[in-house]
Amino acid sequence: MEFFQFSECNSLNLLYQTNCKRTIVLVKMIYNIRFLYYNIFMNRLTLTTKKILSFIQHITDRQKYSLMIYSILFVHFFLTCLFGYFRVLPLFIFNMISVLTYLASIKLIHKDNFLSVYYITYLEIVLHSFVATICVGWKYGFAQYLIAIIPVCYYMCYTMNTKRRKMLIATGSALFAILAFLACKVLSFYLEPMYELHLKSLELALYFFNSICTFLFLIIFSLIFIFEMNATSMQLRHQNAILEKLASTDPLTGLYNRRSMNLFLNQALESGSGFSLIMCDIDNFKKINDSYGHDFGDIVLQEIAQITTEQVKDNGYVCRWGGEEILILITSQLEEKAYRIAEDIRRNVANHNFTLDSKWIHCTLTLGVAAYNGHDTLEETIVKADYNLYTGKRNGKNVVVH
Ligand code: GH3
Ligand code: MG
Ligand code: MG
Repeated sequence: MEFFQFSECNSLNLLYQTNCKRTIVLVKMIYNIRFLYYNIFMNRLTLTTKKILSFIQHITDRQKYSLMIYSILFVHFFLTCLFGYFRVLPLFIFNMISVLTYLASIKLIHKDNFLSVYYITYLEIVLHSFVATICVGWKYGFAQYLIAIIPVCYYMCYTMNTKRRKMLIATGSALFAILAFLACKVLSFYLEPMYELHLKSLELALYFFNSICTFLFLIIFSLIFIFEMNATSMQLRHQNAILEKLASTDPLTGLYNRRSMNLFLNQALESGSGFSLIMCDIDNFKKINDSYGHDFGDIVLQEIAQITTEQVKDNGYVCRWGGEEILILITSQLEEKAYRIAEDIRRNVANHNFTLDSKWIHCTLTLGVAAYNGHDTLEETIVKADYNLYTGKRNGKNVVVH
């Protein structure tokens, strides 16, 4: 009996454990599927957001005006149906004409006639807000479009080519919109609406619709404006960086030019932490030019500049000091360190094969090293390095003298 109970209990336990395992597997599966779908959804969302942002950043004037016209077309199409349904004849006809006008102005956008599109849109919005307020009254919020149109006017004029007149056009448009807004309020205050829509909930719904459209206009145009400003400032920063590089480097070798080197030299002098100079000159460079041509001479210069930069690394600055002279500033007062770097440069250049088509030659450098001694002037230190260089030239070239 006891044994029977024990075995029954055991099999129940086994069943319970198997069921538990199945439930855990099922939960894990559901969790994994949910996680997978969540990841897919998040990836899609990020991709779509990136696409929208990149579209806004690179939006052209055509796209901008098309966006504006299609959004307004949508609003007028909706209002045409609404006023047709409630038999508000003047507004039904007005909105139909507006839809047709906007459809026609799409052609103007394709012809890049943005100024005409701007005037048509502006006049239509002002007139529509005015007529709609007179017909159905203030409470439906049609006058709100007159407020939303003001930043849009400035933004649209900002993108126009008419440089001097654009501020005048935008300010004139804004003032007229304010006048129209106040006139709507005064007239609707003294005059009864021409039509009653006789539906309380419609009053709220239409007010909401007009408010949401107004806010959406404001948000979309503000976003485009901000992104456009960001894109312009990014472009400016990029162009500035290019100009800065052009102004501070030598176009042939990519090394710093003399102007930049003078700045680095003065900084090194003012820092007080000491520095050394290496003056390099290509040996018999005139002969190379004469024998293999000026173009090959340029390649030799470029490759020597590359070897020198690789050897100096972040120990200092390399500059094209003159025609085939390179000046190196080592940010250390230890002459021994500068000498080692100079010797590495000399050896690497001497072992390098300078090739052009099927031709290849060897070329050497002579280098003069001088460390700043704490009381000489900058010019005196440069003269010392130059003097050591010419000692090397006199002693047979392809040497480092310090
Ligand atoms: P040394 O060993 O005494 O320095 O003799 P060298 O022939 O190198 O010196 P020299 O001063 O007589 O000649 C320098 C030559 O460098 C003359 C000039 O045409 C050439 N040179 C200067 N700048 C450039 C350049 O940008 N490209 C090319 N290809 N040659 C240049
Ligand atoms: Mg030379
Ligand atoms: Mg020279």
